Amino acid sequence: MADHVHENCQALLGSLSEYIDGELPADLCQQIEKHLEGCENCRVVLNTTKRTIDLVRVAPEQVTVPADVRERLFVRLSLDDYLNPKK
Ligand SMILES: [Zn+2]
Repeated sequence: MADHVHENCQALLGSLSEYIDGELPADLCQQIEKHLEGCENCRVVLNTTKRTIDLVRVAPEQVTVPADVRERLFVRLSLDDYLNPKK
């Protein structure tokens, strides 16, 4: 059962950047939102990622972040920490 949940999390986190950017079809968004309702871990990852994006967007004059850097940010935030916890 835990493995099944984990698989869902991996699928969700793989689509997280598209979800935040609003690039996913509505039915997929619904699936993600449904999963988020029952999965606190994914909610934390989503909030952390969103906050990071907001920081990047709030100060466009001081900080210019190329798209590829932003992508790496996503990968580091949402996958490394979450799927390979160090504790
Ligand atoms: Zn999850």
